[in-house]
Amino acid sequence: MEMKTDIVIVGTGVGGLFSALNLPRDKQIVMITKEDMQSSDSFLAQGGICVLRGEEDYSSYFEDTMKAGHYENRKESVDIMIRSSREVIDDLVDCGVEFERQNGEFVYTREGAHSKPRILFHEDITGKEITSKLLEQVKKLPNVAIYEYTAMTDILERAGRCHGIVAKTKAGEEMEIWADYTILASGGIGGRYRHSTNYPHLTGDAIEIAKKHGIRLEHLDYVQIHPTTLYSKKSGRRFLISESVRGEGAVLYNKRKERFVDELLPRDVVTKAIEEEMEKDGTDFVWLSMEHIDKETILGHFPNIYRHCLEEGYDVTKECIPVVPAQHYFMGGIWVDCDSRTSMDRLFAVGETSCNGVHGANRLASNSLLESLVFAKRAAAAIDGEIKGKGCRRDE
Ligand SMILES: Cc1cc2nc3c(=O)[nH]c(=O)nc-3n(C[C@H](O)[C@H](O)[C@H](O)COP(=O)(O)OP(=O)(O)OC[C@H]3O[C@@H](n4cnc5c(N)ncnc54)[C@H](O)[C@@H]3O)c2cc1C
Repeated sequence: MEMKTDIVIVGTGVGGLFSALNLPRDKQIVMITKEDMQSSDSFLAQGGICVLRGEEDYSSYFEDTMKAGHYENRKESVDIMIRSSREVIDDLVDCGVEFERQNGEFVYTREGAHSKPRILFHEDITGKEITSKLLEQVKKLPNVAIYEYTAMTDILERAGRCHGIVAKTKAGEEMEIWADYTILASGGIGGRYRHSTNYPHLTGDAIEIAKKHGIRLEHLDYVQIHPTTLYSKKSGRRFLISESVRGEGAVLYNKRKERFVDELLPRDVVTKAIEEEMEKDGTDFVWLSMEHIDKETILGHFPNIYRHCLEEGYDVTKECIPVVPAQHYFMGGIWVDCDSRTSMDRLFAVGETSCNGVHGANRLASNSLLESLVFAKRAAAAIDGEIKGKGCRRDE
């Protein structure tokens, strides 16, 4: 089977959807996704999305991002993300996304390693709120066709240029999708781990394909482990207990109910402390207590976490829950420049599958939705520029 389009996008998470929304309307776009449209990590994001609160917050936001990333971040990318954050939030609000407000003003929450509250949220289902609204908008576009249960298996490379992708359809048929431009937005690698908060079908396919074609990759060993997922003996995706729960005052205890770490330190530091404590005590988990958060805040801000824990037999308003670290996010990926261009002509990568250097060696909480959106918009603008002959196409 063969198909021809102007632009093909692999993935229907925030990276893929926001690229589609920002591409020219007179271009035909094909989007594919390995599972159904809603099965992306973007739908799972709980805590929120960062935004620059004002010029006075710039240096502190920049420093928090760099410090969490062990100063291995690309400064230019961090600057672009922070400076573009307000515009992207405005775009989301225009798409109908609702963030928590009080008297009409945004309410900001805080997560680990942020020196001040600068995170917008929608209960504890921020990702679902953002991604479902973007999906609604994309579905309305007459120039976009979405194919579910269609998995990219390769790219079409001719003379060092990308001409589209090869995919496998639900019926098991191979399909070549020829396109002038290709955007890889296929998310992370959690499906390769036994314990991960990610969807199991996110197995880093684009990374493997890129490797095969000699496309530049970066920091493949930079994997973030989230310190607090609900401990369970069941198999499958681990349920995340968002960092904003600790931001609102939840504390960690060892088996003797003693605190052993500052809960608001960066993720890698808290994870290490938990693992050391489990090792010392010979336990499979540590305890997380929400005793210092009032019930109203728990039910209002974290209704999803409250409900899920209740289903698992824990009432977080009354008792501690067992938590354990699990794979959560991939900072490395396909190297891209600050317009999301890969090292191969006509091939772009956005979102978790790409590495634009924003996160350095460790991602600051709630920076990834923002990073995906900002650099998806830039990919769309760069492609538009190249089509109009203004950009730096590699053949020119
Ligand atoms: C539980 C959880 C909570 C999180 N909370 C937050 C948060 O509060 N704030 C924040 O900023 N970030 C959070 N994150 C991280 C954030 O959600 C992701 O980094 C971000 O959504 C990635 O978006 P994406 O578009 O790159 O990928 P995804 O949203 O994962 O989408 C990937 C898409 O690619 C498709 N795909 C994959 N492989 C193929 C293939 N071979 N062929 C075709 N399609 C394919 C998938 O089907 C999917 O549609 C959280 C992540 C998790 C897992």
